[in-house]
Amino acid sequence: AIPLVVAINTSLAARNGMLVRDRIAMEEARNLDAIVFDKTGTLTRGEHGVVDMATVDGVTEADALALAAAVERDSEHMIARAIREAAEERDLSAPDATDFEAIKGRGVRATVEGNEVYVGGPNLLTQLDSEVPDHLRQFADEAGENARTVVYLVRDGELIAAFAMADVIREESFRVVEALHDLGIEVAMLTGDSRDVADAVADELGIETVFAEVLPEDKDETVQELQDQGKLVGMVGDGVNDAPALTRADVGIAIGSGTDIAVQSADVILVQNNPMDVVRLVKLSKASYRKMQ
Ligand code: ADP
Ligand code: MG
Repeated sequence: AIPLVVAINTSLAARNGMLVRDRIAMEEARNLDAIVFDKTGTLTRGEHGVVDMATVDGVTEADALALAAAVERDSEHMIARAIREAAEERDLSAPDATDFEAIKGRGVRATVEGNEVYVGGPNLLTQLDSEVPDHLRQFADEAGENARTVVYLVRDGELIAAFAMADVIREESFRVVEALHDLGIEVAMLTGDSRDVADAVADELGIETVFAEVLPEDKDETVQELQDQGKLVGMVGDGVNDAPALTRADVGIAIGSGTDIAVQSADVILVQNNPMDVVRLVKLSKASYRKMQ
């Protein structure tokens, strides 16, 4: 039988927008030593806008943006949406593209006018072994210092443009970090984004532990790394990529309108898409425990 006090607190949790899928995890939340947050869409709004771009000689900004929008046509990633919107704002029509392929945690690929075209972040460049022209490197460095996410356009093996996108830190994130620190909980951030952007966001929020440029298949290893230090670890995420880390964590927390896979991998689902509910969850768990003694 479910102890009465736990049953009560599960419904109390539900009333606070927390769906508890695993009761044990709910109890464990009171003992968490560290909580790892996915950056994009969790600590930040995930609403990117293209704020700047650079191209190589012979490629106009309009051409680059239209080509990138064509490759991103079918992607649901927030970066893809931003690129399509930027192209629309300039009334650019994207050329026809076929053979779309999502490359998890790296970017997308398609065939456009007989060319193999990629759009993606630093992880993609590493995979393609692309050479970065000096002025694009400089553009990317500068963007990174300003906490802007940079994605690249590669056509037939040649890097031809870079786009700088700005995301916004959620107002609530500042309070979440502070409140967790007050509870004695270490706050970590996990992202596939570049080291520069990750450090800038972490600095601003006062987050002490940063895992950047992490590939989707390695996200759960960062959780493991903290567990290997003897810590009880919570993970907060929303994306498909976060699912293995949510499963690995002692308390997996899916936030907001998380993807189905994230929700299925989590122990607790925060329905209201408010990261402050992570703090409420820990406090509720602590309160239940006290009552049970
Ligand atoms: P995060 O870990 O920040 O939630 P993802 O794991 O979804 O981000 O993606 C990691 C990185 O892969 C992004 O920062 C971006 O550089 C690149 N990427 C992923 N999907 C796309 C896409 N559709 N278009 C361009 N870049 C992408
Ligand atoms: Mg994400």
